Amino acid sequence: MKTLGYGRHSVGEDDIAAVIEVLRGDFLTQGPQVEAFEAEFAARVGAAHAVAVSNATAALHLAMLVAEIGPGDRVVTSPLTFLASANAAAYVGATVDFCDIDPVHYNLDAALLERQWLPDTKAVVAVAYAGQACEMPKIAAVARQRGALVIEDACHGVGGGFWHEGREWQLGGHPWADMTTFSFHPVKTMTTGEGGMLVTQDAELARRARLLRSHGVTRELSLHQDWPSDDPLHEKGSWYYEMQALGYNFRLSDVQSALGRSQLRKLDGWILRRRDIVARYQHAFAELGWLRCPALREERDRSLISWHLYSVAMDFAALGRTRVEVMQQLRELGVGTQVLYIPVHLQPWYRRQYGYGPGKCPQAEALYASLLSLPLFPAMENEDVERVIAAVHSLAPRS
Ligand SMILES: *Cc1c(COP(=O)(O)O)cnc(C)c1O
Repeated sequence: MKTLGYGRHSVGEDDIAAVIEVLRGDFLTQGPQVEAFEAEFAARVGAAHAVAVSNATAALHLAMLVAEIGPGDRVVTSPLTFLASANAAAYVGATVDFCDIDPVHYNLDAALLERQWLPDTKAVVAVAYAGQACEMPKIAAVARQRGALVIEDACHGVGGGFWHEGREWQLGGHPWADMTTFSFHPVKTMTTGEGGMLVTQDAELARRARLLRSHGVTRELSLHQDWPSDDPLHEKGSWYYEMQALGYNFRLSDVQSALGRSQLRKLDGWILRRRDIVARYQHAFAELGWLRCPALREERDRSLISWHLYSVAMDFAALGRTRVEVMQQLRELGVGTQVLYIPVHLQPWYRRQYGYGPGKCPQAEALYASLLSLPLFPAMENEDVERVIAAVHSLAPRS
């Protein structure tokens, strides 16, 4: 029996053909596929500008750079996230801080964010855990009143949305984030192998992100400086390029972008399948006293969320087994599981660097003790879903 992982990419013959076509062509990188992918992705999520990058960690790093965040600035994020949401702020020398999660929907507690606000806070990284959007209008109100930016980490929620004031908004396509990041790592909902996207409604932020993505160099004539006639840079021929800022190589290739475009065409179907699997799980697990299903912040978001993870909270004490034992038992039944995530403030580097430790974010720490992510990916057959459900039910303590 094949073990189901907690996630798995879907790469089909159409994807493979799209990649091969680029491999036979003239541009492996910096060609037309990148721009086409950016345009199609921006249109899909409702963003004005999309900047393709080598991974979402680079997208978050770029967001910090274009926001001009640095030493002396504080950046607040959720402890229940992948390391990169926090690390990006540390890369630019900012102080990384954590605001605890709401115990119901597992995202940043916006009221707590406001109560704990410190005046040196320059940005909030709002992580859409599992794909469910944060309370973006509230977070934006808190941050913007105090002169801080909002960066939405939507790495889990590509193609998803949320309700606010009578209409649907999309992650990356609403006015309550200054920038939004997406990941195309293979465990995420669509993949380019490695890859990411930074989207924004702001043309100036996008322009700076493009510049810094590729060494801070621009070949665009209209952006070049005028030099006096006796300066060596006065002569501007076809070779001419100008480094205007200290940038990086955060580029996505044409090969990867072709895969991204092909994957994007299938995104909507995948989201529907993921939502269907989540609905089956929610129904099957609703009555279990020792398992808490993911809860929605807004009931109307049920038909809009793009689910990346299906993370439940299990009462291991009530089951009379440790998490290690439960994971082993599920594995023997062909069901792979994962723990996402270890609260970031508890990582050794964060303890050493900032003196953080247990007790800083009690809700995230309590959740961590019970967290388990079950298999969720679009290629799961109905019998795979049934297998997971039966395996979870088989954990029940015998009465
Ligand atoms: C995966 C992930 C990232 C980093 O994405 P990469 O493309 O692997 O760099 C950042 N934030 C969150 C929430 C993620 O899940």
